[in-house]
Amino acid sequence: MADLARIDHWIDGERTSLSSTRRADVYNPATGQATGWVALAELADVDAAVASARAAFETWGETSIAKRTQVLFRYRELLDANRMELAAMISAEHGKVLADAAGEVGRGLEVVEFACGVGHILQSPFTESVSTNVDAYTIRQPVGVVAGITPFNFPAMVPMWMFPVALACGNTFILKPSEKDPTVSLAMAELLTDAGLPDGVFNVLQGDAVSVNGLLEHPGVDAVSFVGSTPIAKHIHRTATEHGKRVQALGGAKNHMIVLPDADMGQAADAAVSAGYGSAGERCMAISVVVAVGDVADRLIPEITSRIDDLKIGPGLSEDPMDMGALVTGDHRDRVANYIDMGVSEGATLVADGRGLSVDGHPDGYWLGATLFDNVTTDMKIYEDEIFGPVLCVVRCDSYDDALQMINDSPFGNGTAIFTNDGGAARHFRHHVKAGMVGINVPIPVPMAYHSFGGWKDSLFGDTHVHGSEGIKFYTRNKAVTERWPDPHDRGVNLGFPTMD
Ligand code: NAD
Repeated sequence: MADLARIDHWIDGERTSLSSTRRADVYNPATGQATGWVALAELADVDAAVASARAAFETWGETSIAKRTQVLFRYRELLDANRMELAAMISAEHGKVLADAAGEVGRGLEVVEFACGVGHILQSPFTESVSTNVDAYTIRQPVGVVAGITPFNFPAMVPMWMFPVALACGNTFILKPSEKDPTVSLAMAELLTDAGLPDGVFNVLQGDAVSVNGLLEHPGVDAVSFVGSTPIAKHIHRTATEHGKRVQALGGAKNHMIVLPDADMGQAADAAVSAGYGSAGERCMAISVVVAVGDVADRLIPEITSRIDDLKIGPGLSEDPMDMGALVTGDHRDRVANYIDMGVSEGATLVADGRGLSVDGHPDGYWLGATLFDNVTTDMKIYEDEIFGPVLCVVRCDSYDDALQMINDSPFGNGTAIFTNDGGAARHFRHHVKAGMVGINVPIPVPMAYHSFGGWKDSLFGDTHVHGSEGIKFYTRNKAVTERWPDPHDRGVNLGFPTMD
């Protein structure tokens, strides 16, 4: 067996194992073989990362906007040049197909481009003469040291929802990536250093709950951005808030797509299959429930199954490009397969069964085929829980009003979509649906970097969404200044009470 790659931390501009003695194996999901091991930080390592970021903040926070954005612009160029290399790293540890991995690097790159324009966004309002010879204005200053804690499913894009904006605003950053696919975090750290970022401004702390909780409780951390599952997001929000930090914690999802009878069934089926099974359903914006209104199910399901039959499933790095890769770990594949068992015992109709899929030449990969359930009802576990795998549930519904109510009753509120040619229905849906991101004939409505990304209800804890104007708001603090420069012609003592004349 080949030597396992060692995946360290990145502190003060270099790879280091610090004092970590614990480690976790990292696997290639297409082969089921361990390919490396990642160091798991101890509390002393958290101290070292925070000390590095705090020291770097003293100068980075004072560095001009022009110099900060020059570094980010060079990083953008390096990211673009290395896009496919990064995508291959992601695919090798996550399992998603290469084109999908390249797509996530591209979406992260868009946030870097947005952050390069931070000078325009940080312009502050200025009001002249709020009183005689008195002007007032607002400035935005960096928060300080930011910790970013990220999930396995987008190991490059989700960190880039955070750190380009945080760094552009003058903060320093500690990334705690997922321990399941940590390699690309080090590659991004190296590219930032190559782009001229000073040591200590961006650090990577590899680890598990020990490092996360250490960061949440550390007095040297000022703000926490988290993306992951809902139970952990709640824990992050509660703990970081208790420790006096600013926190945004994005959680899990169960995204519904309504299909109205007037929709084009071919386009709706394309969308349901792409959004349901892309990245093996391991996307927080994946569609996991199709709400089929009226007679839609009987027309839509044959369209979906014919597309499922054509899906090519195999290694993400295969020379013959695949549509869908393996799931991230064996445990996760088994958990998703258990949900399929559960759906059958709950009485849903199993239309396409992904269990037991084998892929030639890859007997130990974490495979699961595209799975489709019909006649799912809202009291079933397969409807209630976030499964996070290639399992699409069709719920039949009599009316648009019932479909809307179903979405609004869901505890999650990340993304949602409606497929229709009825502009009035689409407008009503856009206005009344309780979710943070809405697609109208768009199944995965991930906003561009200059809009902000985030959900409602149990899909986000905290006040602000990520990137766009909300990201800038999260990573800066407001300071209102009232300033008096007396007119040189005004002279004389006045003992009266100061008034706004
Ligand atoms: P996860 O919650 O298991 O892990 C996320 C991060 O939290 C990781 O860095 C992990 O090391 C850490 N963590 C895990 N358990 C912890 C604990 N007990 N205490 C402290 N830290 C802990 O999520 P995941 O499985 O890596 O990612 C999938 C989840 O992320 C799904 O629920 C998905 O919907 C969600 N997600 C949400 C969004 C969004 O924008 N809302 C985006 C991507 C993923």
